[in-house]
Formats: sequence, C-alpha cells, structure tokens
Amino acid sequence: MSVRTDFATVEVPNDSHVQKNENNMEREKKRLLHYLRQERKRGGDEEFGRRIKTIQKLSQFSHGQSNPTYKLLVEMTDGTLKSYVLRKKPGGKILSSAHAVEREFQVQLALKRKHPNFPVPRMILLCEDSSILGTPFYIMDFVQGTIYLQPKLPVITREERKTRIYENMAKTLGALHSFDIRELGLTSFGNISSGSYSRRTLKRWFGQYEKSITNKLVETPEKEVVMKLVAWLDANCPKDGEEVSDRIIHGDYRLDNLIYDERSDDVLAVLDWELSTVGCPHADVAYNCLPYYLPPGLEFYPSFGDSNQVPAGVPTEKQYCNIWSQNARLPNICGSSKWKFYVALSMFRGMAILAGVRARAVAGNASSRNARQAGSLVEVFAKRAYVVVVQGGASKVPRQEIKGGYEPSEKCMMLLERLRAFMSEHVYDAEEVFERHATTNERWSVHPLMEELKKKAKAKGLWNLWLPLDSAALIKITNARGNDEALYKGPGLTNLEYAHLAREMGKVPWASEIFNCSAPDTGNMEVLLRYGTKEQQERWLLPLLMGDIRSCFAMTEPAVASSDATNIESSIVKSTNGTQYVVNGRKWWTSGACDPRCAIAIFMGKTKTTGPQHEQQSMVLVPMLNNHKVKVVRPLLVFGYDDAPHGHAEVIFDHVVVDVKESLLAREGAGFAIAQGRLGPGRLHHCMRLVGMAERSLDVTYARVKSRVAFGKPLSENSNVLNVLGNCRVEVDGARLLTLYAAHVLDQLGIKDSRARSAVAACKISAPNVACSVIDRCIQLFGGEGVSQDSPLARLYAGARTLRIADGPDEVHLETVAKIDLRRSKL
Ligand SMILES: Cc1cc2nc3c(=O)[nH]c(=O)nc-3n(C[C@H](O)[C@H](O)[C@H](O)COP(=O)(O)OP(=O)(O)OC[C@H]3O[C@@H](n4cnc5c(N)ncnc54)[C@H](O)[C@@H]3O)c2cc1C
Repeated sequence: MSVRTDFATVEVPNDSHVQKNENNMEREKKRLLHYLRQERKRGGDEEFGRRIKTIQKLSQFSHGQSNPTYKLLVEMTDGTLKSYVLRKKPGGKILSSAHAVEREFQVQLALKRKHPNFPVPRMILLCEDSSILGTPFYIMDFVQGTIYLQPKLPVITREERKTRIYENMAKTLGALHSFDIRELGLTSFGNISSGSYSRRTLKRWFGQYEKSITNKLVETPEKEVVMKLVAWLDANCPKDGEEVSDRIIHGDYRLDNLIYDERSDDVLAVLDWELSTVGCPHADVAYNCLPYYLPPGLEFYPSFGDSNQVPAGVPTEKQYCNIWSQNARLPNICGSSKWKFYVALSMFRGMAILAGVRARAVAGNASSRNARQAGSLVEVFAKRAYVVVVQGGASKVPRQEIKGGYEPSEKCMMLLERLRAFMSEHVYDAEEVFERHATTNERWSVHPLMEELKKKAKAKGLWNLWLPLDSAALIKITNARGNDEALYKGPGLTNLEYAHLAREMGKVPWASEIFNCSAPDTGNMEVLLRYGTKEQQERWLLPLLMGDIRSCFAMTEPAVASSDATNIESSIVKSTNGTQYVVNGRKWWTSGACDPRCAIAIFMGKTKTTGPQHEQQSMVLVPMLNNHKVKVVRPLLVFGYDDAPHGHAEVIFDHVVVDVKESLLAREGAGFAIAQGRLGPGRLHHCMRLVGMAERSLDVTYARVKSRVAFGKPLSENSNVLNVLGNCRVEVDGARLLTLYAAHVLDQLGIKDSRARSAVAACKISAPNVACSVIDRCIQLFGGEGVSQDSPLARLYAGARTLRIADGPDEVHLETVAKIDLRRSKL
C-alpha cells in the first residue's frame, strides 16, 4: 500500500506507524487551544477557534525532511471529531528564507480562493507568533486519500490506471502554470525584478549550498563536481527575457507530494508548497521529470531507474510533457538543449536542498531522523547532474549508465512483493509446524497445511512461477479444465525474472513446493513439455501443473558412477511384439519417490547395449501409485535428515511392464540428451534457491550476533565477526550476480549455446560452494544452536552440501567450463 507520512493526508493503515510524540504534546495542546479560542485569525476560517471544544490529539507525522507536520484531532462544539493538519517551521538555526510556512499558507489560500477546483487543502489559519508553538505554523484541512511513493507505481496493476495517475499529475501542474499571477494577487510572491528565474535560482541555491557547508564538521566530497556543474549552468543559463518566468511554480512537484482519490485517480490535493514562487514553469516541469533521469535506489527521490524501463501505462517523458504543455498552454521543450539545462538545474537544486538537510543533521536540528541519510545523497545528485546531463550531453540517462544489474522487471517486482508478503504471512510461521511434523511417526504423510498453503498460493497467482513462456507454449493439452489454463501456464516469466523469486523461496527449504516450483517436479514437467506426447501430457503433465500429483526422476544407480550418465545400466527391454517394455534396475537417490502423492517416475535405462555410448539410454514413464513391481527399499539419509515426506529413496524396479507408446519419451536412444537438457534450467533453479539459503542464514546470524553477548560485548562488535560477515556478503553477492547472469544468458541464447552452458555450469559450481561456506560460517557464529534443530542452519547446510553433488558434482561442471573456454581459445 502506498503511504506518504510526512504530510497531512495519507491513507494511514495504522496510525501508530506514522505518529509519534503524542504523549509529550500536552503543553502544546493547551497553549494551542487557548490561542485558537482567543484569536480571530486573518485569512482562512475566521470562526474556526470558536467552534472548537477540545484538542483530542496532536501527533507528529514521523517522516519529513522540511517542516514538522502534525495531525490535529479536535472535538467541535457540536460533538463531532474533525481532523486537521498543523504545519510549522522547524526549530533551531535554519537557513534564511527556508521553511517559509507563511508562503505556503499564502499561495494555497490564493489558489483556493481564485480557483476553488484546483486541488489544494483548504487553509484554516496562519499563526506567525512564535510564542505559541515555538515557531510560526498554519492549520489546514486534512484530506483523505492515497499517496503513491514510487514513480513506477508497483501497487497499481492496471495500466490504464497508471496512465490516468500520470495524466492527472501533468494536467494539475499544467493548470497551475496556466494561472495568471495578477488574478491570484501574487505578483509580489517572487522576486521577478532581479533577472531571469534561472539565474536567480542558480544564485540562490548556490548561496544556500555555500552556507550549508560553512560548518567545518560537514564533509563535502561533492564540492569539486558542484563547482564544475555551477560553471556549466552559469554558461548555459537563459538570459533575461529568454524564458517564461511569470507563473506560480510549485518548486517540489513530485508524485509523492500529491494525494489521489483511489477510485477516480483524480488529484485531491497538492502538498508541500514550501518552495513555491513566481518563476519558470519549464523549470518546474523539468524538476517533475527527474524520475526519468535519476538512478535507482534513492529513497528520497525514487525514480524509474532506467528511462528505457518506464513501466507499461506510464507515459514517456515526451508524452508526459505534451499533456502538461496542452494544459499549461505553453510550448513543450522536452528534448531540446534548453530542456537539458532545466533538468541539470533541477538536479542542482535537489542537491542544494539535500545539502541543507545534511547541514541541519550535522547541527542536530533536522526535523527527521532520516535527515542524515538524505544528506549522504548530496554527492549522488551532484555527480548525476554533471556526468549524465552535462558531460554525457544526453537528455536521457544512457542505458549502460544505470543498468546496475539484472534487477527485477516491473512484472517480476509485483510478483516478488506478493511472494514476500506471502512468505511473511504464511511460510516462515509454518516452519515450526513442518519441522515438528518431520519428527513424528506421521512424517511420511503430507501435512494438511501444505495443501492449504498451495491453495492460497494459487489464489494469489503465485503458481508455476518457474514455467517460462516458451515452455508453456509447448503444452499440447487442449481440454484443460475451465479456468485452470492461466494457472497451469503460470505468469510466463523469463529465467531471469524467476531467479529473483526462486531466491526468495530458497529461504525456507520446502517453500518452493507451495508454489509448485520444486524439484524434481519442475525438471520432470519440463521433460514432459519438451518430449511428451499429447496423451502423456494429458495424463501426467496436467495434474503435475495443477499440483495434484508429484513425480520422481530415477537415473542414479548405486552400482555405477552416475555422474557420467552413459554409465547407467538399468535395462528397458522391448517385448517381442514391440508394444511393451520390461523395465529392470536398482536406483537410488530417487528424490520424491517416498511421497504418497508421487504418481509417476521418469526412468532412465538402456534400450541398447551396443552402438555409440550416448545413444544407448532411453527414458520411459513408469506409474508409481499401487505399482507392486516398484519397490521403495528405504529412504536414504542426508546427514541424518530423511527429508520426509519427500525422501530420497533407493528403489527397485523389478520387471515393470509399460506400454511403449504410453511410456517412451521422445525416441529410443534420446535418454542422454534429455538428461542434459532437463538440467539446464533446473540447475539454475537450485542455484537461485541456494543464494536465498545463504541470505537467510546471514539474516538469522545478523540478529544473533547483535543480541548475543560474550566477554562483555555483543558478538557483532568483534572485528573478526565483522570480517567473517563482510566476506560472506561479498561471496553471496558474487554468486547471486553469477546466477542472474546465467539466467540472462540462458534466456537470450538457450541451453544449446555453449556460452549459456558455460554460465550455468559456472553458477552451479559457485552457488552451492558459496552457500555451504557461508552457512558453515554462520553456524560457527551461532555456536551450538547452529547445529541443532532450533535454528534453520543445520538443515540449510545439509541441503546446500548435497547440491555440490546432486545435479552433477562440481568437478564435472568445472570440466564443462574449462572445455568450453579451451574450445573458444582455438578460434
Ligand atoms: C540429496 C540428493 C538428491 C538426489 N536426487 C536425485 C534424483 O532425484 N534423481 C537422480 O537420478 N539422482 C539424484 N541424485 C544423485 C546425484 O545426481 C548423483 O549423486 C550425482 O550425479 C553423482 O553421481 P554418483 O553419486 O554416482 O557419484 P560418482 O559418479 O560416483 O562420482 C563420485 C565423485 O567422483 C568425482 N568425479 C566424478 N566425475 C568426475 C570427473 N569427471 N572429474 C573429476 N572427478 C570426478 C566427484 O568428486 C564425484 O563427487 C541425488 C543426490 C543427492 C545427494
């Protein structure tokens, strides 16, 4: 949900989230009440004070960099409760002309009077007497609505709504810029006589910046680049008369300063008029367009991150400026060299504002505890303005500049947020339930909670997330049940998109099953998609995609070194009439074979004992339920864990008879090729989960070392502990990026391309090794609890360690990487 907490009017799901200091405000409440009752305020609502009976609450909104803002809940004389907003100047020493609440009041009052439909809150009263609350303040109406914090609007799913939200933002700003300052009575609101708006702005904000760095305690790593930027802005500044400069401008017009009606998407109120003045509307709209330019990850100035990735529904910068231009009845200069100047000026101004926040934080009188953090962005802004806009000479951020990694797409981000919420709400809490179940005699049955969670995941659209679009297109089933089609096809993510989600699921060992994303089912479904006939798909794939049954993959044999699939010796012998196969063999490590829902096995064996080695094996489908010819001998233990009810079984296939047409996958002799292809994406899925496993281990360890005290201080205060954790982070991030890279290459080139095979093999080596080593170090930091059932680490370690062997041992993958490189080096 979108919430903006530093101004009056947000949709506040939980008041405690946004308000503070309520208990300390008794004195202020008394003084304020006395003042309101005594005085008839000029401007605003003159009768306001007379209608108030008591002040019930005065509580500060917890965020906000500029003017402290409070929610004021009053009981009126007629017994009704009403909410208002009180906004005041911060205390302490502040830069001159900053935080002018008087101006905020004046401009909003004028706008509401002359243009009642323009969305600003109704002004109630202004108090310039600092003796009441320490600094001047004003009171305005509380407007109920929604504030969207993120320009990408991740909480809005419908594209047309995104379009409307942006159109309404542009129209509102356009309307503001179309107003006549004389009609508003605001001709003296800005200092029009002293040169062009841009020159004035440059001078003013450079002055503010210089003042903000006078305190010796303020560090100024940005200073050199600021000086270069100022020189460029000075040289490119429009001359007097070269720019429109007689309009009311808001000065900080951003999505998160607007309150929207969630049903109509109309703008209900424009907030934070602190920087409003008479000036150049082009500069104002350029500032409004900063999300198209700024890098991702700036908490105080969220952006699109990459101008090429403006989400569907959100207009491009040019389209946005067109809407503004039509409403402002001013030319659209977006893309021109003048535009570049205004964008640079906006960033410069943003930098100077942040520098002011930084200065106040250092002086200890910032109005928010986040002020120090905001100050650290000064350098980011200055460099961005100089490098991207000035030096780069482009009006857009170059793609490679801000493509920080393989970050989630818009679609993926939505699912990721949903998945995280689901994990927090249902999965982490259920861990204990499943762990307990795994120690009872009932452990080889499926706990009912698992099926319940699967239903919930389906309802949330968190189902078959692993299934890429191109694989889903191979579904040959035509008579799928009713509305299930969307479910069994999943959301159609790329491997790269899925990587982000699998990482999240990996944090809990059995979580993937809830979303129908677990091994070996995903690999088996992939095989059925690629090599199954329509009948095979109908019988086995559909129920697998629905999560109604489970499956196993029976390749590895105790008798032979199975990392080399050509060693597999089990037999698949055709009957003399050619319609049936007789299947024989002893398999082990057949994961999932113990699961009571396991209905089908993909069995690998030899259909030929002569000819080329890679052509001797085939794969056939063997039904498992009530099949007396298939004997599960025992579940194998992994460091003592039996992974019930899934299990890793030793299984004997004893003269199992299957129909050739019903059971053969692809063709006789294709077994080796299928085994290779099956494990491309499957291996990646493991790697993605392994990164999640390592991250989860770190998360629980962070909490542990902060709270565990040994030899008089928390463990986290030992430098060797920091060393361990720092190294872990470096390694996990390396493995994560390698995995994302492999997913990306796989998406681009397909598993047949040697570059994709090499990338997948590389991360198949890196991810389990990193996860093992990180979890091992976390266990060490945990002490005894780390190896016990009371922390998730022991199970996570066991799981990660097996993945250095399962799906092919490290050595085999290392060989793959090296051989591909050597082959390439001959070219
Ligand atoms: C928990 C778990 C789940 C599993 N699930 C399944 C499953 O569902 N279905 C299934 O069919 N199998 C499964 N396996 C089996 C797994 O795929 C095999 O164990 C793996 O392929 C290695 O085969 P192997 O055990 O026969 O080892 P071997 O082939 O005997 O190899 C032993 C060791 O020899 C070394 N080695 C092998 N080849 C080379 C080489 N080229 N160069 C240098 N050294 C080499 C490596 O150190 C290797 O670890 C699972 C295994 C585990 C542990």
